[in-house]
Amino acid sequence: MGEQWGFCKRCQWWQIEPSAKIGDATMGLCIDENLQPYRLLVSGNSGCNRFMKGPPAQAEGSSSHPPTASPSR
Ligand code: SF4
Repeated sequence: MGEQWGFCKRCQWWQIEPSAKIGDATMGLCIDENLQPYRLLVSGNSGCNRFMKGPPAQAEGSSSHPPTASPSR
């Protein structure tokens, strides 16, 4: 488990719409395995200590209320 706190916009568990640009106000689904049951919608400027550095995943429906996309990784 990652113990380093980091921003969603730099986390590989952040999943955004395919057309979305990475930014502080961009909303996306957190697909961290432990957080998936919560369907957590988070902004690029959000963060937590499950952070894993990497590019975001992409899937349609990642920013819906609630998110309708399945985790793509
Ligand atoms: S909530 Fe945590 S694990 Fe999920 S995308 Fe943001 S930093 Fe990554």
